[in-house]
Amino acid sequence: MAHFTCEVVYRGIFQKNLAARICRGIVLSARKAGRWGIAFGRYGDSPQRNGIPAKDFAIVADTQEELEQNMARYEPKEVDVTICVDDTLSKGVESWAWYGLQPINRLTLPNGTLLMTSLQSPEALLQDIHQKDAPYNLALIRAKASFSGLWVFKEDHTEARILGALAKIEPQFLSLDAVCQAITEAEWGTELKAASARKAYERLETRPVQVVEGNPETPFSFEKPKWWEMREGVTIPAIPVGKPMEGGGGYVPERNPYFKKFTTRTMRPVIDFDKCVKCTLCWLQCPDSCFDVTPDGLYDANMESCCGCGVCEAVCPAKDCVTMVNEAAFEDNASQWEMWRQDKDVYKTWMTGKITDTSHVVRSHGFRFRGQYEKELVADRDTGGIEITDGIPGENARLKAVTADPASSIVTGVPEAPGA
Ligand code: SF4
Ligand code: SF4
Repeated sequence: MAHFTCEVVYRGIFQKNLAARICRGIVLSARKAGRWGIAFGRYGDSPQRNGIPAKDFAIVADTQEELEQNMARYEPKEVDVTICVDDTLSKGVESWAWYGLQPINRLTLPNGTLLMTSLQSPEALLQDIHQKDAPYNLALIRAKASFSGLWVFKEDHTEARILGALAKIEPQFLSLDAVCQAITEAEWGTELKAASARKAYERLETRPVQVVEGNPETPFSFEKPKWWEMREGVTIPAIPVGKPMEGGGGYVPERNPYFKKFTTRTMRPVIDFDKCVKCTLCWLQCPDSCFDVTPDGLYDANMESCCGCGVCEAVCPAKDCVTMVNEAAFEDNASQWEMWRQDKDVYKTWMTGKITDTSHVVRSHGFRFRGQYEKELVADRDTGGIEITDGIPGENARLKAVTADPASSIVTGVPEAPGA
């Protein structure tokens, strides 16, 4: 008797459908290989928000009895394969009720595999991935993170490529033929997708990771209150009003000290303070109240609080003032305004390096201009689509405006219902 368990760590909403397809594909492939499988989300009612890390699980077993045995747990405490479909999650994962930061490889068994979609090198990823006290394998599919929405799906074959890679990693449970057969028969499958699975099988890059490798920092955690420390009833304390910045002046809103929203972020805003016209729009529109008002009337996005939604870039009226940049390009959450205040030339060099490197600014959730997904998918799917620089501030911002029918969805380019 044998079984294999895997988790899919994904971005809430943006990758919900992708994770579901991967897990469903695993179960269908298991049946084609003569085994039993089941897939489930971490929560039955699946609460999720844009970008917040979430998990689905899939278990494959030789027999129904063994599958039932594994299903007797609320969720797996260890997995043979961790599948991560956005490489910025290598910095760690904080989701509903995980009580701090969970390393991406926390559940990965010794000698298990962390399978990621990424264009970064293993060495660059290991600067973010936390050290583990046992060796494991890092397997890479060369692809950009595939983002879509709750009601749309980006057909870039990421799910098929993950399934093809899994056949390479766990051949005793999922043969490549079984995977390809399941993909072809799935309601979302095609022969072309089965071909993508075969290519991913052939091209998978795997590298062993030793215990001394990885990010040595201790992940953020905190003590949960004991039951006798909780307040009566169902009340929770409100967040108090803010206070001036250290040294006087400005305004810093109070924030939840436990929930660090930065793990929700796949991009972050980089601000050119010299271009800011102090219009307050970013501060007003930021859904997480994460802008600190500085004593000189500028607005500094607090990186402990920013969820990376991109609203500030979208609303800022000053040309090239706010640019969303791939979260993978940053090593810390330090204040940009503080860096700018201390040495404007150093800040300018740092900022220019971030916003002019197209490998950093090419990432988006698909909202930079209408028809963006279609344009990305024109290119070779084997590499996860082409890099789209259109619409990036400073590159070709006119494409941020309308490139298609103004009545069409900004995500899909498909006409929307009147009034939508
Ligand atoms: S991306 Fe901008 S608007 Fe969104 S949370 Fe961060 S600072 Fe606020
Ligand atoms: S929206 Fe842009 S110009 Fe306005 S305050 Fe924010 S950063 Fe400055």
